[in-house]
This record gives sequence, structure tokens and C-alpha cells, in this order.
Amino acid sequence: MKFSIAIRDGLILTLDRENRVIQNGFLGVLEDKIIYIGEEPNDFSSDEIIDAKEGIVLPGFVNAHTHIPMSLLRGLAEDISLKQWLEKYIFPIEKRLNPELVYTGSLLSCAEMIMSGTTTFCDMYFFEDEVAKAAKEAGMRCLISEGLFDFPSPNYGVDIEDGYRYTEWLIEKWKNDPLINVAVGPHTPYTCSEKILRKVKEIAERHNIPIIIHLAETEAEIQEMKDIYGKSPIEYLNDLKILGPNLIAAHCVHLNKKDLELLKNNDVKVVHNPECNMKLASGISPVPEMLNMGICVALGTDGSASNNNLDLFQEMDTAAKLHKISKMDPSVMDAVTVVKMATIYGAKALGMEKIIGSLEVGKKADIIVLDTNKPHLVPLYNPFYSIVYSAIGADVIYSIINGKVVMREKELVTLDIERIIKDAKQWADQIKDWLS
Ligand SMILES: [Zn+2]
Repeated sequence: MKFSIAIRDGLILTLDRENRVIQNGFLGVLEDKIIYIGEEPNDFSSDEIIDAKEGIVLPGFVNAHTHIPMSLLRGLAEDISLKQWLEKYIFPIEKRLNPELVYTGSLLSCAEMIMSGTTTFCDMYFFEDEVAKAAKEAGMRCLISEGLFDFPSPNYGVDIEDGYRYTEWLIEKWKNDPLINVAVGPHTPYTCSEKILRKVKEIAERHNIPIIIHLAETEAEIQEMKDIYGKSPIEYLNDLKILGPNLIAAHCVHLNKKDLELLKNNDVKVVHNPECNMKLASGISPVPEMLNMGICVALGTDGSASNNNLDLFQEMDTAAKLHKISKMDPSVMDAVTVVKMATIYGAKALGMEKIIGSLEVGKKADIIVLDTNKPHLVPLYNPFYSIVYSAIGADVIYSIINGKVVMREKELVTLDIERIIKDAKQWADQIKDWLS
């Protein structure tokens, strides 16, 4: 057999329908696809052979909700109220955002994501074409959306029509790209008028693309929607016929029984962001209930300003523990479920489950390799337990996206990390000047 990349001696977690685990496994890639998984073939040739040295081989993680340019705002202000944080720090900076800053912040995040095992991300921010350019340069897979709302945008200005035009331009520009996918991004039900939400639905349907929205994140949002419309944000979106399988709803923290039924019946995809919800004291999303009902719940970090990193290993660990303590039941959110949230459920949430999210012949080669020959990963009785409760982002030593090695022996192949860090530090100085 002929491969472009062969991975040998790996503990392969396929995350396929049977959740097969293969000891001393071998995986072969040709061009952008996985063409072989199983025992090492007797006779093969490969352009590159990766010796996993009994390390774990699994699908690259999907960060299903983030705002990657916000890495440049990481740690800017902490331990204050959300209102203060937004009004004194985030909004004044976002008013001055420019494409160059967004591009540098995006490159920094792409480097961080690749180095911690993420191969696909779902983003909403401003100047999203810069996010796409950075992802393209990094060789990362993504679903991006320009944030739309009733307030002036640093990108499209005061006229929402320009926001729609920018979104349509993004869709057109990236439509045949193998890695970059575009969605429509209404910010929230309370920052977007009914008119925007109806238009967003029309654009998404016309192009058959997902809608990304923040939904039912805080108690204040629930109250505001009740005061204005007399219903929950989910009921409101249901009345506008926006709930559906193409809706990617971040957070979904404050839900009543009827909301849960609506999410389930409309096959809405939910993204859980436990660290952000904890840090901003938003509340605890009823994730075990949603999973029990069969709702697809993926995992996200949200932006680095409210997390403060993009490491899905930490997010998995937190997701598992948060719900165990919240329910006072150590059996909820078991390790296999949590790893699925970061892989196959993430792929499903983004509408990509046919091409990524599991290691299967015919799927795109988005693969990570973990070095398990480390004190904190020995002994390794069960790889799922080790991944969720012991492993960290830095354990990832190889990352392959769409059949291309983007990190080899912990060295980034596509990005110049020294230059990116230098540029990011310069932008941080600029940001400090803006606030002084
Ligand atoms: Zn968010």
C-alpha cells in the first residue's frame, strides 16, 4: 500500500460508531483522506512515517465556539463585573479594532490551538476575513461568521445592510475552499432586531449554511427577553422559525422544560462553554439533561478574554467535573461522552460529521498524536480517562489537518511562532496605550 503519511504503533481511538480502540494500531493517509486503519500492513510505502511510540492517536478536537482574535485581550482585566469588564475594557478596544490586529490575534490563536490539539474551530467576531486568512495560513479547518447586530460594527459600520453584504462576500470568497467554511453570525436574540434575525435566516437558507448565535447565556438575558417579548429567548427564536438543525447555539445555560423540548424537537446544536460560564458566573448549563434527551452538545472555549485559553483538554476536564459536583453524582459526564463532545459531537454541531470528528476510512485526515511517555500519563489503564483527567494540551506532539502535517514533534510547520509572539506583544502595547 502507498501512503503519504503513515502512523505506526499508536493507541488509536477511532471515535467511530462502535467507538473502536486499536492497540498497536496503524493509520494510513493518502492526500487529504484516511485510507487505512488497523494492524500494520506487511508491505507499504509512505512519504512520512510517524512513530507514535504507543502514544494516543485520535481525531483532532473541534472548538465549537470561540472568538479567536480576542486572544490579544487575554488577561486584560479580571475579577470584575461583566458590565465593568465590557464597558471599561472590551467595548472601548473593540471600537478601535482593525484588520491587522484581528489577523495577528487570529494567528496567535491558531498557533495555540494547533499546539493543544484543536484542528477545527467555529468563530464569530469582526473582520472575519482576517480570521479566515490566518486559518488558511495555519492550515486549520474552520467555520467563521461575521458578528451582526443593531449596534455600529468596527468592520461594517452603522448600516446593517453592509453587514449582510460583507457576509455574502465572505460566503462567495471562500465557497470552494477545502478548509474555510462560512456561517451567518447574529450575535444574540437581544442585540439583533427581529428584522436582522429574519434576514439572517433568509441568507442561511439561500446558501444552506449554519447560523451561529449566543443563546440563553445569562439570567439578565432571560429577564430582558421576558420584559420585551413575554417569552424565553428560545421560544422567541422558535416563533421566528430560526430553531433548526443548522442553528449552532452557544451557551444555553438558562433553559426551562419547554426550551429543552424546543431544542430537541428542532435538532438545534448546542455548544457548552463551561470555563467561560464559570468565570463570568453565568450559571451551569443543563448539559447532562440535554445529552440524555439526545440533543447534540459540543464543547467550546469561547474567547480567550473570558477563559483564558483555547485548550480543549482543560475544557473537557472542567466540563466533566462541573456537572459531577453540580449533580453530586460522579457518574454523570463520563470520560467517553466528554471526548465525544470535543470530537464527533463538535463535528456534528458544525455540520461536518460526514468528513471529520472520527478516524474512519474515507474521512478527512484531521488527526492528533499524544506523547503518553510522561509521568502524568503513566500508567495508562484507559485512554479516555487519561485524556479527560490527566492530559494537557502540551502532550500533543503531532497535528495533521486535511492530510497535511501542521505540527511535527511539537514544532509548528505552517506558522512562524516567534514572529507571531513578537507582533502580538506589540499589539498588547498598543492596546495598553488605547486604555491609558
Ligand atoms: Zn461567545
